[in-house]
Amino acid sequence: MPSTNSNDDDTDATWRPLHVAIVGSTGSIGKSAIDVIIASSGRFVPFLLAAHRNTSKLIEQARACKPAWVVVVDPIAAAAEDWSGLPSGTKLAVGSDALDQLVGDPRVDRVLAAIVGSAGLRSTWSALEAGKVVALANKETLVMAGPLVMELAARSGSRIIPVDSEHSAIYQAMQAGHPNEVRKIILTASGGPFRKHSAEALTLVTVAEALRHPTWSMGPKITIDSATMMNKALELIEARWLFGVDANCLDVVIHPQSIVHSLVEFIDGSVVAQMGPPDMRLPIQYALTCPHRMECPARRLDFSGPLTLEFEPPDLGRFPAVRLGLEAARAGGTAGAVLNAANEAAVGRFLEGRMLFTDIAKVCERVLGEHRYKSSPSLDELMHVDTVARQEIEKWN
Ligand code: NAD
Ligand code: MG
Repeated sequence: MPSTNSNDDDTDATWRPLHVAIVGSTGSIGKSAIDVIIASSGRFVPFLLAAHRNTSKLIEQARACKPAWVVVVDPIAAAAEDWSGLPSGTKLAVGSDALDQLVGDPRVDRVLAAIVGSAGLRSTWSALEAGKVVALANKETLVMAGPLVMELAARSGSRIIPVDSEHSAIYQAMQAGHPNEVRKIILTASGGPFRKHSAEALTLVTVAEALRHPTWSMGPKITIDSATMMNKALELIEARWLFGVDANCLDVVIHPQSIVHSLVEFIDGSVVAQMGPPDMRLPIQYALTCPHRMECPARRLDFSGPLTLEFEPPDLGRFPAVRLGLEAARAGGTAGAVLNAANEAAVGRFLEGRMLFTDIAKVCERVLGEHRYKSSPSLDELMHVDTVARQEIEKWN
């Protein structure tokens, strides 16, 4: 797809700094992105940093990398902060409307969409409408509204480059063949901290246990999603729309080391994988430099000692979320938005100690099964089913 304002075709002779907007800069992905920017020796210039309400972190980040703008989405948090600590060249903007406008600023080359949850859809939509290249971490945008988002990207001549490590791996592996020659896309999953738990032990999982991921350091919502394996469900749906493949081409394999980030099997039987350390700075940077590469602050794989890579099929009985993801990817329509919203609300309840770990997938299955399915919903209809699904979760006891 053509892109209007990236400098994809840069050669050494035309090299210029890339101006990036980091939306969700105070989160786990956002902080890794700031590392990448600071290590880039001027290749990346932050145009804006945006956050929900962590204003003190935003000021600290602005002092470290001096963006043109900081944006606080929550006006109450913005009003409560003393902004005198902002660097002199950095301006403050407040609210979602300001964010929507600034991501479309002509000076922005790439937008890193790193808000968590369905709250990320709006600014991602604005960036795509403005024809920007979007480095997409916010998988929920595609889970909720994949067909509409991909259609918008095609219409506006913008492009989505995945940040999610699995999708970044698939995006890279896809380049080994023609899209028509792909037989299977196989997403790897670490299996989370409870890979070996019995069904009974899973019912007793506490919030503190679920927040400790064995291989990745991430925000709380995605950490719980990894523990339930709902993260893989969301990623299956994300892959379905991002790569425009039939849901039956998608598969999941457990790979506890998180070194092979995903695999693509071609029709001749060749399987092409991308490997790297479990460090999000690598896929974040690749989404900003792609199709080029440059030195990266991420850790490196070390082949000087023994390295064991294990693969095993997922247990869909103990981790029913994976099955739900496959079903929602096949169903399309409103299914992704409902599963996403039900899960977001259920994870919220689990984190507040108001839901059992194993009830997260159960309640999602119930809400998904009972909702009024529509095959080609509008954005408004998706917002509506999102609201209804959240209300249904609140009724669970
Ligand atoms: P996080 O909770 O650490 O950070 C979330 C960020 O979003 C914060 O900057 C917060 O201020 C902002 N935010 C939250 N609600 C907002 C709202 N209503 N309006 C504006 N901003 C809001 O989350 P994270 O782990 O960095 O994940 C971000 C996204 O990236 C998620 O969609 C996640 O699935 C995806 N992702 C994360 C990782 C990871 O390693 N953390 C890996 C792959 C994909
Ligand atoms: Mg992932």
